[in-house]
Amino acid sequence: MRVLSGIQPTGRFHWGNYFGAIRQYIDLQHEQQAFYFIADLHALTTVREPALLRQLTLDAAIDLLALGLNPERAVLFAQSSVPEVSELCWLLMTLAPMGLLERCHAYKDKIAKGLPADAGLFTYPVLMAADILAYDSDSVPVGQDQDQHIEVCRDLAGKFNYLYGETFVLPKAKILDNAAKVPGLDGEKMSKSYNNTLELFEDPKAQRKKIMRIVTDSRPMEMPKNPDEDHLFQLYSLVATGEERQAMADLYRRGGFGYGEVKKALADAAERFFAAVREKRAELAVQPEYIREVLAAGTVKARAKAGEVLARAQRNSGLR
Ligand code: ATP
Ligand code: MG
Repeated sequence: MRVLSGIQPTGRFHWGNYFGAIRQYIDLQHEQQAFYFIADLHALTTVREPALLRQLTLDAAIDLLALGLNPERAVLFAQSSVPEVSELCWLLMTLAPMGLLERCHAYKDKIAKGLPADAGLFTYPVLMAADILAYDSDSVPVGQDQDQHIEVCRDLAGKFNYLYGETFVLPKAKILDNAAKVPGLDGEKMSKSYNNTLELFEDPKAQRKKIMRIVTDSRPMEMPKNPDEDHLFQLYSLVATGEERQAMADLYRRGGFGYGEVKKALADAAERFFAAVREKRAELAVQPEYIREVLAAGTVKARAKAGEVLARAQRNSGLR
């Protein structure tokens, strides 16, 4: 069984990315053969500064390794290092109905907001299908919002197989635990575009300041509160130990505490929780050669697999 996942280097990773996605991907490396790529081709539809894109791609690789991605177990590479994927994308594009792509929400949402969309965004699900099919992936862990794109991938692969004979493995979506929807500083979903994030590798002092600014309600201190309805408590739960979490929940239910106290406890717990990975990241950041070697070794493995699949697709469709 092979699991595949990609993450876009469109900004620095935040708690939402980690607890909602990255942590769960990394855990899967222990169960299955894992291919993880940094989706720089996809990011091109958003990041239009070459130096920034290069930096964010490198940062993403360093972050993933610091967070526990083990290059001995998982294959890590940049999407653009595997040109076979772009060739495969064209083959799939010739089978992708316009109507199908018009219904895909990344494009539809943008148009609905009256924003201009480019062909890159329009055909995003086809490139994503190529990403998945190129490695004969069986399983693709994604959030609920990506389920539609996996269906497009299965549609295109099924159509190709029907026309040209058995070529592609049909992947299954592995919908990630939705419970880990992380709230941001304003209590809304944490998201780069909402500018309400706590970054993973932020300086602890700066992060503490941000935490002190988290929006809370104005109920009086004496009042008992339900921890499960409070975003401060939700954030705390992510980084606290089981015992700390329990003690904090009891405090909420008893009442007689201030949110300032909770924020301080959150900042302390966050600092402890991320201390080891922050140290690991600092070590990796001064070894750019090592990072490049890891990506190069990953690229070799990824291209070997993608080359095999592309040749199969070319042969079957009459290109060879
Ligand atoms: P954008 O604002 O550009 O959409 P984002 O901050 O929402 O960026 P994405 O690149 O969309 O981040 O998401 C990367 C991964 O992180 C996805 O798998 C997504 O489901 C997950 N993720 C993002 N934000 C959260 C969140 N607040 N809670 C849980 N998971 C999240
Ligand atoms: Mg998002």
